[in-house]
Amino acid sequence: MTFTEKIKTHAQKLGFELIGVTPAEESQTIRLYEKWLEKGYAGKMEYLEKHLPLKRDPRNCLPEAKSVISLAINYYTLDPAQELVENPARGQISRYAWGDDYHEVIRAKIRELTEFIDEAGGKELKQKIYVDTGPIIEREYAQKAGLGWIGKNTNFINWQSGSWYFLAELLVSVELEYDWQLPRGSCGTCTLCIEACPTDAIVAPNVLDSRLCISYLNIELKDSIPRELRPRMGNLIFGCDICQEVCPWNSMATPTSEVGFQPREENIAPNLLSLINMSQAEFSKRFRNSPVKRAKRRGFLRNVAVALGNWGNRRAVPALKRALNDDEALVRGHAAWALGVIGGGSAKDALDARLGVETEAQVIDEIKDALRVMAQSTQKVVLADPLAHSDGND
Ligand code: SF4
Ligand code: SF4
Repeated sequence: MTFTEKIKTHAQKLGFELIGVTPAEESQTIRLYEKWLEKGYAGKMEYLEKHLPLKRDPRNCLPEAKSVISLAINYYTLDPAQELVENPARGQISRYAWGDDYHEVIRAKIRELTEFIDEAGGKELKQKIYVDTGPIIEREYAQKAGLGWIGKNTNFINWQSGSWYFLAELLVSVELEYDWQLPRGSCGTCTLCIEACPTDAIVAPNVLDSRLCISYLNIELKDSIPRELRPRMGNLIFGCDICQEVCPWNSMATPTSEVGFQPREENIAPNLLSLINMSQAEFSKRFRNSPVKRAKRRGFLRNVAVALGNWGNRRAVPALKRALNDDEALVRGHAAWALGVIGGGSAKDALDARLGVETEAQVIDEIKDALRVMAQSTQKVVLADPLAHSDGND
């Protein structure tokens, strides 16, 4: 067995299903990436701009690098009952965040691989690990190694098992045997993901405007979510899987046996009302070692408030009234929006009361807008039914 074959066999034993090796050389898609940044599609993810010089060539990350080992590990587990995930009183969390923090799970596995390489190849070898967020155009190297292609939804897709994969890379300072085969499969004439995207974030095949993408809005964006996009977010409270769910290549996905990726029961369609008033201690406990903690409490509760507004049920008003007095202005502002959408006398009283004491300009603006929305919808009801005088729901 050659050194490369030994590495691949060991990586497979560690749970990586797809493994490919390519030379550590200049990126061939960097110009496309630059253009994407120039158009502002990265939104407020400034770190992507900062990563640009490093992304031009993996040797900018590890000068001695000779090879890129691309690794993919499947995180597909189960399909929860449709009526559960579509229930607007419940929130949806992206599949990849149902289990433990994948960064930790994968890094531990690659560390084991580096130890194996050290033992088999000599301690003088230099290695560098990247899991998901590193300054390397990982999909390019995975595609070059023949592991799959980049779909129109911008996800990496394998022709046998679809796109529920985490990608990771290991740079090593030794020449290996390289994979040159072209990936099988393609999107062909399919446009299902483009049509299914609720916010039209896939602005052209393979081009994502992150500023519109729900996964950006409810995880990466740390500020207020643009009001016009909130109604399109439905009950998605962490990430969005829609453009992968509709992809025909995922019909062949098989469940992973990786223990760390098995869903925590509380992450499958949690009840929104059980989340909106979580304290910091409760949030930290519930999402310990979970990818969800990336949104932080303030961002997560912001998302839950939006989902409650989209649910539109008066049963959410008491919890939203408490959220209107949250310590975080971001939570108060989105709770105000949700109360405005739901409407009713009790919601209006709460908004009026908060307006009297609120000091944050952004929240004051949200409350005023919510009251304006409420007044408009009341006017519409009166115009439609001149005898209507009360919602009778408070
Ligand atoms: Fe659209 Fe959701 Fe896919 Fe983003 S993740 S492109 S919002 S379907
Ligand atoms: Fe490609 Fe269709 Fe899958 Fe989109 S849904 S990534 S167009 S195969």
